Amino acid sequence: MPKLLLIQPTQYGPDGRPCRQDRIYLPGLVFPLLAAIAPRHWEIDVRIEVVDEIDCDADADLVGIGTMGYTIFRGIEIAAEFRRRGKQVFMGGYMASLVPTHALEHVDSVVVGDAEVSFPRLLADFERTGRIERIYDHPVDSLAGLPVPRYDLLTSKPIGGMLPVQAGRGCPHLCSFCSIACIYKGRYMARPLDEVIRDVAAVRDLGYRSFYLLDDNIVSEPRFLEDLCNALIPLKMTWASQCSLQLARNPRLLGLVARSGCNMMSFGLESIAQEGLDRLGKSWVKVAEHEALLKRIEDAGILASSEMMVGLDSDTDATIDATYEFVERARIPIPRFYILTPGPGSAMYDEMRAAGRLVHEDWRRYSGSEAVHRPERMTPEALTEGYWRLNERVFSLGSILRRTLFHPRTLRHPGQQAFAFGVNMHYRKYVRRRVPPNIF
Ligand code: SF4
Repeated sequence: MPKLLLIQPTQYGPDGRPCRQDRIYLPGLVFPLLAAIAPRHWEIDVRIEVVDEIDCDADADLVGIGTMGYTIFRGIEIAAEFRRRGKQVFMGGYMASLVPTHALEHVDSVVVGDAEVSFPRLLADFERTGRIERIYDHPVDSLAGLPVPRYDLLTSKPIGGMLPVQAGRGCPHLCSFCSIACIYKGRYMARPLDEVIRDVAAVRDLGYRSFYLLDDNIVSEPRFLEDLCNALIPLKMTWASQCSLQLARNPRLLGLVARSGCNMMSFGLESIAQEGLDRLGKSWVKVAEHEALLKRIEDAGILASSEMMVGLDSDTDATIDATYEFVERARIPIPRFYILTPGPGSAMYDEMRAAGRLVHEDWRRYSGSEAVHRPERMTPEALTEGYWRLNERVFSLGSILRRTLFHPRTLRHPGQQAFAFGVNMHYRKYVRRRVPPNIF
């Protein structure tokens, strides 16, 4: 029986060591899905480094490494250990997909993009010849027919109270900074509704009352979301996901989403600077509407978390301070921030490079917490300093309490606000160590 070891690396901390946690609350779906797709006779072990030890002497025939963002560098280090021991290593995930030539300098093979077609071919090649090809790049044109993921590979680990279920992939928008836009190029693929519901039922049958709906932008096809919500209502589960603020522009759909059990949603607000958003191809997001739309979400009973960036070309020190004031005013329960970072392999990266605006090309430092480009109206140093100042202010005890436990909505939704308090305190620990607060 051939053995496959699948590894999800963690990110490095400021001490140069891999970050670890006692528990992972939002484990990924890719490995359980690939394990379900693999022929039955493969024995598969999954290691999520943030909670698991990685044994480089493991008795595996083949090693696969998934990469999200700059965890690719920890992945490269792990790959080197296994290759030194004579193992063949392949790598996948969006970072490896965007820079496959670079990844191939460190691994035997790269799976580009979605893996559902490529992965079984890779396993078959290995079994037939003992070798794998350098590149597997077989796009997926439909998400129909995927099996129920091997959730047992996650439930055996220290995870939180939710399991992942995929609804769709991609996004119809083309925001220039976004890796999803780079990979899916404006395309959104929804899974068949009955298969999504089948997976939700599988999660419920395992004893879980909550799941998180994996989707790059769940409101991409409003009709699909509406049908999905109607099908979820009888299951009486709670769920979380992410989407654009467009959802709040449709009060009827927002109400249905809440009734179907959604109690938390992450929104890409991106910025409070309209000029910066317009220049990033996201002019359809209207900064002037942010607060009113967030209020609608709050009134619907959904806990909002937000993703915002600093370092847009219109940004100054004052914009960063105004971002803090906005978060305070809107009392966003769970905010997250990044420095705009031109991802290697993206059009933005090529443009900045051509214009001489990259500070350096040490991709290890492309973490989203250090300025690696020269914005028009700030120095990179001032941007990095402003980013950490923003995090320190937002994740101060006073701000956390005002946005969570001391918020009036605590009376109506005490569980949600207590959860938000816990997440903020978790992020606070990361900020104090100067680690980007994005592991959960
Ligand atoms: S709407 Fe969100 S997911 Fe879609 S391209 Fe823009 S940033 Fe990416």
